Amino acid sequence: MRLVLLGAPGSGKGTQAARLKEYLQVPHISTGDLLRAEVAAGSALGLQAKEVMARGDLVSDEILLGMLRDRFSREDTKAGFILDGYPRNLAQAAALDELLRSLGQKFDAAVQLAVDNEQIVERLAGRAQAEGRADDAPEAVRKRLQVYDQQTAPVIEFYRQHGQLTVVEGVGTLDEVFTRIVEAIAPEKAVG
Ligand code: ADP
Repeated sequence: MRLVLLGAPGSGKGTQAARLKEYLQVPHISTGDLLRAEVAAGSALGLQAKEVMARGDLVSDEILLGMLRDRFSREDTKAGFILDGYPRNLAQAAALDELLRSLGQKFDAAVQLAVDNEQIVERLAGRAQAEGRADDAPEAVRKRLQVYDQQTAPVIEFYRQHGQLTVVEGVGTLDEVFTRIVEAIAPEKAVG
């Protein structure tokens, strides 16, 4: 199965993707994780991305596409994937379409985890305390939410217009949200 997970920062994409990975037995590709690994490794790419990420801005489309091409060239993605954190703007959505077309792959669904803004702000504040991520500082959170509204929200419309969007209520326990996702994407596997 080939899935794209959409939703605001803090909507639970990463958590649900980790579960879906086990369930569907396909790799979880988180562009945020890929970038953080580059930063941690101190690579040239990581050095370029570090400041941008700490501010809550988007890393360049070019860097992201290069990283994604690289990741999709690996054998394990043949069986499918759960893409988390990409696409984040319309140019990336078009680039992903093009990349998949060139690989002869079509994805099954874009799943939006819908969580209202108030909840998002609360969750991100909680995560800032628990994880201490640089971009969970208040200024960066505000910036990430702004970037999300301006650049990423239109991606949801893009998939809606292409008839590929599935909206899942992202509020509830982790199990509840997980069950909703599975029911939405693979009802035949959601038994029990
Ligand atoms: P969150 O969704 O909680 O903001 P992520 O781990 O998905 O967290 O992303 C963290 C940061 O990594 C983003 O704020 C951005 O700077 C960078 N990033 C991740 N994915 C992309 C992308 N597709 N395009 C540009 N920048 C990205």
